[in-house]
Amino acid sequence: MSVTVGVLSVQGDVYENVVASHEALNEMNISGDVIPVKTPSAISDVDVMIIPGGESTTIGLLTLAGDTLATLGERIRGGMPTLGVCAGLILLAGDVTDRMLGGTGQPLLKVLDIKLERNSFGRQRDSFETTLSLEPLGIADFPGVFIRAPSITAVSPDIDVISVYDNRIVAVRRDNIIGTSFHPELSGSTELHKYLIRMATK
Ligand code: GLN
Repeated sequence: MSVTVGVLSVQGDVYENVVASHEALNEMNISGDVIPVKTPSAISDVDVMIIPGGESTTIGLLTLAGDTLATLGERIRGGMPTLGVCAGLILLAGDVTDRMLGGTGQPLLKVLDIKLERNSFGRQRDSFETTLSLEPLGIADFPGVFIRAPSITAVSPDIDVISVYDNRIVAVRRDNIIGTSFHPELSGSTELHKYLIRMATK
């Protein structure tokens, strides 16, 4: 068994997700590879995908070129285990507004039927860390690192809520897709990366 993890490498904290994925593979004793990907053909070759945090508008606009966004959407709809982190979660959402600006009109994958508010917890200086429960994934305590994070304001019935903080939904799952408002790759815990990789081994 070998798992190839792809990290969308257009903008944002790609390196941190590559490192966390390597650590996860090592801890699980699974052979595999972690590769930054951005072309449709590279995306077609991976088993698992991570869309990192960064600026969702920038990532969306840059992936429109060369059909990268369309290929990514097809693979995710086809069942590829996918983790969207912060800006990555925003890209997965169906309906996005910004807390200050309202409608954003940004490119989205629309694979999760959720409503989401960007910058929901405030600006950069309002970034924070807190301990979360990801109980539906079997992870009791998880260090939540929030950086200009979005929150999920509504979910359709097919979406599982994985974590709530301060009465706001901060992690969701539907089938092969997990999205988090916070940054697992900066948490010092590889539990979520391991969970994602395990999905590809089943
Ligand atoms: N605020 C950013 C956005 O809306 C996301 C921040 C992050 O990924 N840490 O795209």
